[in-house]
Amino acid sequence: MSDPLNVPKPEWLDREDVNIFSDAVRGFVEKEITPHGDRFEKQGIVDREIWNKAGAAGILVPACPEEYGGAGGDWRHDYAFHMAVAELGADGWGASLHNSIVAPYVWHYGSEEQKKDWLPKLVSGEYVGAIAMTEPGAGSDLQGVKTTAKKDGNGYVINGAKTFITNGGTANFIIVVAKTDPGAGHQGVSLFCVETDGLEGFRRGRLLDKVGMKGQDTAELFFDNVKVPASALLGPEEGQGFVQLMQQLPQERLQIAVQAVGMMKRALRETIAYVKERNAFGKPVIAFQNTQFKLAELKTQATIAEVFCHHCSERLLAGTLDAPTAAMAKYWVTDVQCALIDECVQLHGGYGYMNEYPVARMWRDSRVQRIYGGTNEIMKLLISRTL
Ligand SMILES: Cc1cc2nc3c(=O)[nH]c(=O)nc-3n(C[C@H](O)[C@H](O)[C@H](O)COP(=O)(O)OP(=O)(O)OC[C@H]3O[C@@H](n4cnc5c(N)ncnc54)[C@H](O)[C@@H]3O)c2cc1C
Repeated sequence: MSDPLNVPKPEWLDREDVNIFSDAVRGFVEKEITPHGDRFEKQGIVDREIWNKAGAAGILVPACPEEYGGAGGDWRHDYAFHMAVAELGADGWGASLHNSIVAPYVWHYGSEEQKKDWLPKLVSGEYVGAIAMTEPGAGSDLQGVKTTAKKDGNGYVINGAKTFITNGGTANFIIVVAKTDPGAGHQGVSLFCVETDGLEGFRRGRLLDKVGMKGQDTAELFFDNVKVPASALLGPEEGQGFVQLMQQLPQERLQIAVQAVGMMKRALRETIAYVKERNAFGKPVIAFQNTQFKLAELKTQATIAEVFCHHCSERLLAGTLDAPTAAMAKYWVTDVQCALIDECVQLHGGYGYMNEYPVARMWRDSRVQRIYGGTNEIMKLLISRTL
């Protein structure tokens, strides 16, 4: 597949093992996801067996340490995964969140027992992961969550409601943000890894009817007196949840930016091919100087976005990516993504508004990138604190 940007692969990414992994992801997506994309969109969810097949193909949680059943990769493999999935238009499959957001919480903060128990299941697809922070009354302001986890004998009882949860229709391993000490502000927040199979009091709401990302099962989740063992608490003690969330956010935000670059590449590839083929006033649309200048601008913007993602990735690998820089990547790259795809729709004319054209779907799917993972306004708040 041609790359419309041709940004040279940086040294940290250009490794044989990463290239082999990237080919495996692309092969899997082309065989198992894209041919069924329309059906997944209609049903609002990918088939459950996709997760097991992906596990068997060795593409789930590539950065999981080998001693816990993983391939012992790192962010390079995550990067290759996000780029492949976005470039091929399989972003309705919530595996990026499973791989690079949910699972890392376990190896960063879990006990030896928790890692041994949960990670192999996340790698094989026996567990599908989700992270439940947002509630009907609390999104950007996470300290305002109302879900509680009260000590009860040897365990905890969780009560609360979550909404907009990616993989919410499928997930059976859910990291739940809850207050263990509601009066203690952010120090009263803890994370619980809840294994939901057969769990009494746990209920999924409807799959939410979204504008885009229609193949992704975004759902409400309800916890009514849900009893979990003490071992569900992530980390050695209560009250660590907020710090744990803050530490993981840079990678989560960079992931969104990388996916945005992947989608921009796809939109550019589709649009360049389209304007070369489509004729108006007796010549191909690419022959108009406006088309050439627009595409020149878009290619420039997407190139800058990719280069900045490379810069942030290098810093992430070196352990020096700070939250404000990751926020810059998330806000700027997703803003560029939405503007770029909107221009691509324009260059397609009326066909760009038809769902059968990939660019129309990209237009719908891209919009949420400015909202989830922390809204772009919250990103600017983080950046402005460094001024
Ligand atoms: C498709 C989809 C998938 C999602 N997946 C998940 C998931 O897997 N897990 C999960 O926990 N959540 C998920 N979310 C939720 C998402 O992270 C939240 O929607 C997001 O953080 C914003 O919260 P909110 O919707 O409550 O908006 P609000 O916080 O109510 O914000 C409303 C508006 O006010 C602005 N605003 C808020 N505070 C400030 C401020 N201090 N300064 C300036 N402006 C401000 C916001 O930027 C926004 O424009 C998902 C959402 C969607 C749409």
